[in-house]
Amino acid sequence: MPQSSRPSLPLVMAEPRGRAKPPRHLADLSLDERTAYATELGLPAYRAKQLSTHYFERLVDDPDEMTDLPAAARGELVAAFLPRLMTPLRTLEADRATTRKTLWRLFDGALVESVLMRYPDRVTMCVSSQAGCGMACPFCATGQGGLQRNMSTAEIVEQVVAGARSLARGEVPGGPARVSNVVFMGMGEPLANYPAVVGALRRLTEAAPSGLGMSARGVTVSTVGLVPRINQLAELGLPVTLALSLHAPDDELRNELVPINTRFSVDQTVDAAWNYARITRRRVSIEYAMMRGINDQAWRADLLADVLLARGDWGWVHVNLIPLNPTPGSKWTASDPADEREFVRRLEARGIAATVRDTRGREIDGACGQLAATADGSSR
Ligand code: SAH
Repeated sequence: MPQSSRPSLPLVMAEPRGRAKPPRHLADLSLDERTAYATELGLPAYRAKQLSTHYFERLVDDPDEMTDLPAAARGELVAAFLPRLMTPLRTLEADRATTRKTLWRLFDGALVESVLMRYPDRVTMCVSSQAGCGMACPFCATGQGGLQRNMSTAEIVEQVVAGARSLARGEVPGGPARVSNVVFMGMGEPLANYPAVVGALRRLTEAAPSGLGMSARGVTVSTVGLVPRINQLAELGLPVTLALSLHAPDDELRNELVPINTRFSVDQTVDAAWNYARITRRRVSIEYAMMRGINDQAWRADLLADVLLARGDWGWVHVNLIPLNPTPGSKWTASDPADEREFVRRLEARGIAATVRDTRGREIDGACGQLAATADGSSR
């Protein structure tokens, strides 16, 4: 129920009619659907599996390397199943090239970003799920430009596969490696593009050659808190990690920082997160961007502890404090480190696990949407 009389935001933004769709790609389809599509095109059914192996297992994109396909038919097969979805416009590197941020141009000119972060024990890909975002959080660069469009399943998956390819080719220092984690913390609100995101979750976790064969536990979906979608995701049976961008424990402040809160209150949103943890047995991560003098007071740490512990203390939740990465022209700045430490101390004193997120890639505008926002501005 809407908790205030403000006009409610549509949960899934309607897309303008008649807009061209991203090219159909095998990653949009299940293996069965790919096989049916091959048959429809008058091709032998096993071509679907061969192409799937090239894409998800061998990570090749050059038709010349697909030597099990008849040379004369390769071009046509690749055009039908593996059309080009996105073109890299810029890559920025940081942390001795173990953090790589790529700005992509989609088929229709829309810009999105992905970030690869290599750690000693894992590689995380941060992906976008929409071009732009309709959630309008005032501290977030993406939120300022509004929503352009939803991304397709294949456009989401391709960001991970592109990262996997560059790792397999040894382009990232540290030798060949695989992508172990995917976080939906790039541009967009993943649960406002629910069907395409669920498709991507399936492709990421299905065994090869149907998908990439990742563990669902390594995948995190981050959301502003679209309550009905959180409940739906809980019932899906894919135990991905849920991250809830809470940023404030009280409705008054959260209404300002995360405007969808006027539709789903803190209580309703945290209930949904708790329900997700209960059903999936996965610990939920509460995201909290620390903003100086705004949401970082000691009393708000206590209130946050109250809100979380009201749902039980069985370790269902973990708080991830994110030092704010100020966006250009933003009136907010990052918290004082002493306030940050006190915030953590108060949560821990109440038995709540809390960590401060490292700030990888800060110098390459690690905060979501900043690179695309700059590119967009300079091209106008
Ligand atoms: N729409 C989703 C996922 C994208 S943003 C969501 O809101 O969860 C991923 C995380 O980065 C969110 O917690 C978001 O609030 C946070 N974020 C956005 N802009 C930021 C900034 N300038 N500094 C720090 N964190 C930011």
